[in-house]
Amino acid sequence: IKETVSVLGLGRMGSALAKALVEEGYEVTVWNRTPKTVPNARSVGTPQEAFKSDVVVTCLSTYDVQEPLLTNEIKTLVNLTSGTPEEARRTAQWAKANGVEYVDGVIMAVPQQIGTEQARILFSGNEKHHVLHAFGEPVHVGEDAGLAALYDLALLGIMWATFGGYLQAVALMGSEGITPERFTPMTTSWLNEMSTLLPEMGEETRTRRYETDVSALDINVSGLRLLTEASRAQGLDTTLPQALHGLFERAQGNGHGAHSIASVIEEIRK
Ligand code: NDP
Repeated sequence: IKETVSVLGLGRMGSALAKALVEEGYEVTVWNRTPKTVPNARSVGTPQEAFKSDVVVTCLSTYDVQEPLLTNEIKTLVNLTSGTPEEARRTAQWAKANGVEYVDGVIMAVPQQIGTEQARILFSGNEKHHVLHAFGEPVHVGEDAGLAALYDLALLGIMWATFGGYLQAVALMGSEGITPERFTPMTTSWLNEMSTLLPEMGEETRTRRYETDVSALDINVSGLRLLTEASRAQGLDTTLPQALHGLFERAQGNGHGAHSIASVIEEIRK
């Protein structure tokens, strides 16, 4: 017999989670602040009614919203609300103190991918993943409940930096009349090539040996100055190239000019 499941929060992601559970054949109860329905799920008017299910999945905007709703009536909490590692650990401690079984997860996917193989659900702490398999591939990342949130923010940080860089590039190309359609195919192969450099860069940050015959920080600081100048000349915002230029320049000033880009981590770790 399958566990009964409730979903708290029917935003873009919560609705997709509830649908995936229904499709997997679970008996699903849903609650949302603004009344909302999901086909073949039972809607209830209070979180307390939703807590009667064996498993409660939460997918609310933030922990500030989620924490006041939680009570010890919950049997098993599968927390998919995004937060910091500290927030996740705090909820794990709350669950332990209140006799609530706890799974901390993060969703590395967009709502449209939920229920497909492309969706990876990282989870930490409790190794029993309960209903996570209905949403995608569950991947356990460690015993500490805060680890899933840590992986989430680290990976999203790469995504935001990449998307920010792409948008700066599209604006720069667009300022000379080159369309995203024409430019984007070049970016995908470029990103693939750049990502092959990451393992070596990671190793350099571990050994803290930054000798290079590939590309010195000096030349990259100059490059970032050129990108900032070119963006400014086209009337574009320069926040992103300037921020990187400032960070790289500090590393250069601290004696890393002849070192590889990996040496910038010495500034970040401060
Ligand atoms: P939405 O903005 O679409 O939904 C937010 C949800 O939080 C809604 O159910 C909303 O209720 C509820 N909510 C907000 N404020 C309150 C409040 N004060 N009291 C009660 N409920 C409240 O966000 P998403 O669904 O996109 O995101 C939800 C979580 O999933 C976030 O933590 C997000 O980081 C995570 N996530 C989202 C991804 C995505 O691609 N969308 C990807 C991976 C993770 P109401 O409808 O009443 O406003």
